[in-house]
Amino acid sequence: MKIQRHWALILALLLGGAAGIACHTLGWKDTAVVQFLSTKIFYAIGKVFLNLIFMTVVPLVFSALVLGVLELGRGKGLGSAIGKAILFTVVLSSFSVLIGIALTQVFQPGRGVELDAGMVAVQKAALAKVQANASQAKDPAQTLVELVTDNPLGAAMGALKGDMLAFMVFALVFGLALTFLVRGGEKAEALVSLLEQVYAVCLKIIGFAMLLAPFAVFSLVFNTTVSMGPQIFSKLLFYVILVVAGLLLQQLVVYAGVLWLVLRKNPYKFFWACREVYLYAFSTASSNATLPRSLELAQKNLGLPNDTSRFVLTVGATANQNGTALFEGVTVLFLAQVYGVHLGMGAQIQVVLMSILAGIGTAGVPGGSLPLIMILLTQIGVPAEGLGIILGVDRFLDMCRTTLNVSGDLVIAALVGGRDRGGARSPATLG
Ligand code: ASP
Repeated sequence: MKIQRHWALILALLLGGAAGIACHTLGWKDTAVVQFLSTKIFYAIGKVFLNLIFMTVVPLVFSALVLGVLELGRGKGLGSAIGKAILFTVVLSSFSVLIGIALTQVFQPGRGVELDAGMVAVQKAALAKVQANASQAKDPAQTLVELVTDNPLGAAMGALKGDMLAFMVFALVFGLALTFLVRGGEKAEALVSLLEQVYAVCLKIIGFAMLLAPFAVFSLVFNTTVSMGPQIFSKLLFYVILVVAGLLLQQLVVYAGVLWLVLRKNPYKFFWACREVYLYAFSTASSNATLPRSLELAQKNLGLPNDTSRFVLTVGATANQNGTALFEGVTVLFLAQVYGVHLGMGAQIQVVLMSILAGIGTAGVPGGSLPLIMILLTQIGVPAEGLGIILGVDRFLDMCRTTLNVSGDLVIAALVGGRDRGGARSPATLG
């Protein structure tokens, strides 16, 4: 009998948790056997899994961003639609990250975990890193100069340590130059298809990692619960509820509000017309897999203009992921709270910016956001192993955030398409 992967992950979470809690409460945590299992076997399994995801970060982000810029450049004939789509993407992503961060800061789902000696050491190291980052604050001119790196390989190394921006800027400049070459009629098909293949290979590697995921979840959850005890499960439930609440707020308040403000029509009719696509996104947890359905819906049922909706939906499947951005912000702050790492204003702003960017650079496949979450965690000094805590519930959250991602693409397609033709025109479904 073949168990579906998400059930295997939930089972691994429960079994790893039960075994870890049992060892914790029976006081076996410091016995030689448990120490050996925890620090050698389970540590190695968890680490190999995390490293498989980590190894994709540099090629994946590079190929995704370069191809994204090229795709944008190809929409040249669409004039102001591109500018509007970018503006709506940035504004809506910012709203969604801010909702997530505000909820996490107000309700503090990860606060109050009692730390054992090992975790206190982790906490101290993380605090030292936060302080070092803060004391290295540079003046704006210097920051700008360093963003435009003279050393792309160095920037790629920096990306693995969590310093992603300079590397992203390099990818954007590279993508821009390639776009101009292509537009100028120069031959670049080989490079473009190479990048497409690099991107596909990275997704395959993430697929390999996912095969290992049930074992990794068991190992990482065992190691976490053995030191934290049962308290972590109630925190986890609280965290899941907060993510879902944030996603609903973005959909029912922000999207509804923007649709109403810009198009002056009833947004809930629009949402109702999109229900089939939402269901498809929820069950596949993949924006890419849902794209053909969204395209069909936009043209046949919503009556949106073909060219702009095709452009917005295709680019948006990767570049507009509001649900993912919200989820990343909540997750990073939640894990920082679990590990007792207090983030100052500067670090929080960094999380906001990186989450917005992460929403833009995430592949539209199940678990596509995991590599960028790991980079974000590394950047603020929370151990990437913390990811193990949330992996058991990630499939469910992935289904929820993907639904918002796809919904956001359709909202932007309606906003851009509805106003592009004669200003007041709106999608057919808005009554
Ligand atoms: N599964 C998401 C999507 O396809 C990406 C992610 O957040 O992992 O939109």
